[in-house]
Amino acid sequence: MTTSRQMVIEQGLDYLRDVGSDQLCNICIANGGSCCKGCRNLSFKSGCRARNTSCTAWLCGFLRYFLYEVDLLEEWNSFWKQVPGQDYREDYTPDYFEFQKILVKRDLRFLSYELAEDLKILSENYPEQGYMFVLTI
Ligand code: SF4
Ligand code: SF4
Repeated sequence: MTTSRQMVIEQGLDYLRDVGSDQLCNICIANGGSCCKGCRNLSFKSGCRARNTSCTAWLCGFLRYFLYEVDLLEEWNSFWKQVPGQDYREDYTPDYFEFQKILVKRDLRFLSYELAEDLKILSENYPEQGYMFVLTI
């Protein structure tokens, strides 16, 4: 089956949205833990100007932990293993390429909401611990 670079980026972003990654990112960013910090593609207010396959596939500690706990980490990793040309904060992924496995979307926003609430409480109660920096590695 043939897919496109743009299609896998959209599939990945949709998938993460459905598992509720934005709820975790909001807490993380509010506490200074953003993984995009210092990137030349990051634009103030509008966010990423060069969304690529590498950054879409990459999971921080929070998201990796979350997908592991709900038994979806392997599925995520095997989907992205099919996508060539991933690099650090950029990609050399061809516009079109062959792939086999698809991502099955799942609505887990209720679960990630609970985790985000716990992280928020931790950050508010123990700001000096720097949980965001430890957990995102
Ligand atoms: S480190 Fe993780 S939780 Fe924080 S902004 Fe990046 S992807 Fe979101
Ligand atoms: S290229 Fe990656 S690290 Fe840079 S702003 Fe975009 S998503 Fe963030």
